[in-house]
Amino acid sequence: MSKHADPLALTETPVAGHPGAAVFDGDHLVSSNPVTGAEVGRVPLADAGEVAAAVERAREAGRWWADLGFAERRRRLLRWRARITRELSGIAELMRAETGKPVDQGVVEAVGAVSTLDWAARHARRVLRRRRAGRVLVALEAASRVEYQPYGVVGVIGPWNYPVLVPMSSIAYALAAGNAVVYKPSEYTPVVGQWLVDTFAEVVGEHPVLQAVHGGGEVGSALCHAGVDKLSFTGSTATARKVMAACAQSLTPVTIEAGGKDAMIVDSDADLDKAADSGAWGALTNSGQSCVGIERVYAVDSVYDEFVSRLVAKVQQLRTDHTEHSDLGPITMPAQVEVIRRHIDDALARGARALVGGASAVQPPFVHPTVLVDVPPDALIMREETFGPVLTISRVADADEALRLANGSAYGLGGAVFGRKRAVGIARRLRSGMASVNHPLGFAGVPSVPWSGVGSSGIGRVRGDDGLREFSQTKSVVVRQARPVVPWSTFERTGKDIERLITFARIFYGRSPR
Ligand code: NAD
Repeated sequence: MSKHADPLALTETPVAGHPGAAVFDGDHLVSSNPVTGAEVGRVPLADAGEVAAAVERAREAGRWWADLGFAERRRRLLRWRARITRELSGIAELMRAETGKPVDQGVVEAVGAVSTLDWAARHARRVLRRRRAGRVLVALEAASRVEYQPYGVVGVIGPWNYPVLVPMSSIAYALAAGNAVVYKPSEYTPVVGQWLVDTFAEVVGEHPVLQAVHGGGEVGSALCHAGVDKLSFTGSTATARKVMAACAQSLTPVTIEAGGKDAMIVDSDADLDKAADSGAWGALTNSGQSCVGIERVYAVDSVYDEFVSRLVAKVQQLRTDHTEHSDLGPITMPAQVEVIRRHIDDALARGARALVGGASAVQPPFVHPTVLVDVPPDALIMREETFGPVLTISRVADADEALRLANGSAYGLGGAVFGRKRAVGIARRLRSGMASVNHPLGFAGVPSVPWSGVGSSGIGRVRGDDGLREFSQTKSVVVRQARPVVPWSTFERTGKDIERLITFARIFYGRSPR
């Protein structure tokens, strides 16, 4: 579908417009590099009719895919996993071309994606197979079971920041659960999105079980209205609201993985070297363009100075450029640079100090790492998602104050705690869907645990057992196997039956526990 004969063999043709901006050229979407502006590839733009047609094709394909059963789906998905794994460097290069992210970062992401796909493929049967439910007093004659049936067609709308790992966290689980998928990649990463679809078609060529529809927000919106049975959205909180509103019209169930403002807490007994290294990486990897990026650090007074000086020393060594193996690459989306600039300027205007970077760090399309201290809690950068390589560090009296401040955010995606004695307890009290202890973004590498946020960070979950169930319709089947002990569900029941029901109920439910 991509106009690129071989999307892994990149062209160097420059396109008009701001480097990296999504360019709509007639009936094509042109993807370009955010630094050089070189064209990466072009894909056909879909309109609402084509989106609806893709969903229609997917419905038929989904029935075929569901009928293959767990074992055959697993075999195909593991073949897809192997296909992607053979091309790890190539897909990392392609991600670099579209987003600017360093190649090593792309490899780490792609390995995360294949491990996610592997887990979903291997565990779908265990989690989703039919299971017996227990018998209960008022229906002793009935055998009950619970089934997890595929929804049918799942729409997936994805962001650009992790264009392989993030969509895979929905797509792999939806497919493993027996659904067909219509995927709308971000307009900034359509070629990577199409590559995923094309490689899947190599192992499942019979029917369009996974399709891509390309375009901007209006194509995402068309997908919400196209009759999908379930929609999984990953992107900003602002767009999530529009997606929920669109899906509300047809009561289409949604999973929302949205923005974050993640906090890291450094307790008094933390290993400061590890904490500094992890804080730097957690905040700055992918140039801070991570939904679960550490944006706020709260360090306890007794270790604050030492922690800050170690972190600053590490950050000062990082290289930001567009060479293949740099530490930080460019900001992918041109408009985001202005958000980052506004947050830094606002913090500095309110009395914050930049220990690294600052206003001069913003050099589009790059933003150099910036570490801010003495930032007042009402500054924009403490409240809104920055999504750039900027870290704030605040001094707190103790872990309780750190928790109070960390939890005072509308967002609640991930979080990290560094410490020994109290660390796990603190992590459990973080108001977030996920938390890592003595590890930066540890949960991102573990597809067996659910990925989710609270508050403005999302609804529902992907990954883990719960992520497989998220893409399944729970169905209860109750089979009468004998004459009822107490016939309550018939107009032929007698007064005596009701008396017996009362007697049973008193025996089984009437006693209060001491
Ligand atoms: P975005 O909200 O701008 O776009 C996300 C997707 O939604 C894109 O494909 C876009 O075309 C589409 N879209 C835009 N308008 C739409 C509409 N009205 N209806 C349907 N779809 C529409 O986000 P982005 O800039 O691509 O990604 C960055 C954001 O994603 C950040 O806020 C980040 O925190 C978040 N994110 C969250 C997670 C997570 O797991 N929680 C993971 C990655 C990124």
